[in-house]
Amino acid sequence: MSKIYMDHAATTPMRQEVLDAMLPYFGTEFGNASSVYGWGRRAHQALDEARDTVAELLGAAANEIIFTSGGSEGANMAIKGIAWAYQTKGKHIVTSAIEHHAVLDSVLSLKKHGFDVTVLPVDEEGLVSPATVEEALRPDTILVSIMHANNEVGTIQPIREIGAIVREHGAFFHTDAVQTAGVLDLNVGDLNVDLLSLSAHKLYGPKGVGALYCRKGVRLEPLIHGGAQERRRRAGTENVAGIVGLAKALELARQEQGAENERLTTLRDRLIQGLQKIPATKVNGSLVHRLPNNVNVCFQYIEGESMLLNLDLKGIAASSGSACTSGSLDPSHVLLAMGLTHEIAHGSLRLTLGRSTTETEIDYVLQEIPVIVERLRQMSPLYQG
Ligand SMILES: *Cc1c(COP(=O)(O)O)cnc(C)c1O
Repeated sequence: MSKIYMDHAATTPMRQEVLDAMLPYFGTEFGNASSVYGWGRRAHQALDEARDTVAELLGAAANEIIFTSGGSEGANMAIKGIAWAYQTKGKHIVTSAIEHHAVLDSVLSLKKHGFDVTVLPVDEEGLVSPATVEEALRPDTILVSIMHANNEVGTIQPIREIGAIVREHGAFFHTDAVQTAGVLDLNVGDLNVDLLSLSAHKLYGPKGVGALYCRKGVRLEPLIHGGAQERRRRAGTENVAGIVGLAKALELARQEQGAENERLTTLRDRLIQGLQKIPATKVNGSLVHRLPNNVNVCFQYIEGESMLLNLDLKGIAASSGSACTSGSLDPSHVLLAMGLTHEIAHGSLRLTLGRSTTETEIDYVLQEIPVIVERLRQMSPLYQG
């Protein structure tokens, strides 16, 4: 069996069609989109077309799309941009305990500047209840940021319901849709969101590029000053090739999303059912409101890191949570927020499937993991197998 990549929530390989669409903009069409001559006009044209594509896929208008360097910048821009633009209206921001650190740390960074932050709890499946959001809202709440689906446990949040509550209250609502772009239908009208961020490299596009939807009439204080690009909301010469790649990747994902979700859900459930046969194993996240490609389990009496090293020896690339926290010994803030103990959370394993995943790969993984789990448990002083 050749190498198996099961970490698509961390990043995805770029599709050939995406690379092909991008290549001219690294070569003959190298112009600066702000220039008036032919090279510039053609680069500008490519940007316009990409913006139209992204806008259409989100049910938005072209002038509501801001191109960014990815999901982290999108979250930072939405949160800090709203905070600085509307601070005279109020200084209270609401988010959840299971957000990606791009959101969580952006919100928390504002505390130093006198903002008041409410971090909402989640239930044992990782769901934020709309009622909890409603209770947290105050007259001075200017922004609520709740992710569409979680990158570690795959739980999909009731964004539409939460959005309706936030809108009714008169605050702005941002959702981090990095894990759902290209997977679920993202119509910003249906979702009741004012701001939505996404990233190309999570959907078979290039790294270092993304988009932020910002509803017409919503002001954003820019993070990056120095030019009139992106309607004065983000200065800097546009990443034309990257933006073209993002639009292409989104377009392809949309075309294939129905059939691919069905295929992945079948593989996901085969993997979950197989892993559940291992004793003292817990599946994390909702089994109902779940991304089609996410499997997250805890094996009691095992360290996630030793599991990963053993899987790597068998040619399987996986994660113990998020790519951002591996390398640190802290257990996942997501699993802790869901009520898992430190000890159990340490034994977590995330397998995220993708376009390359086959049934043969799932069966190989299901053949190797029980052996590794048993071997590691035999070495654990806590395990009485
Ligand atoms: C990957 C990820 C991000 C960060 O996106 P980048 O483009 O890597 O900066 C933000 N939120 C979620 C949910 C993610 O999975």
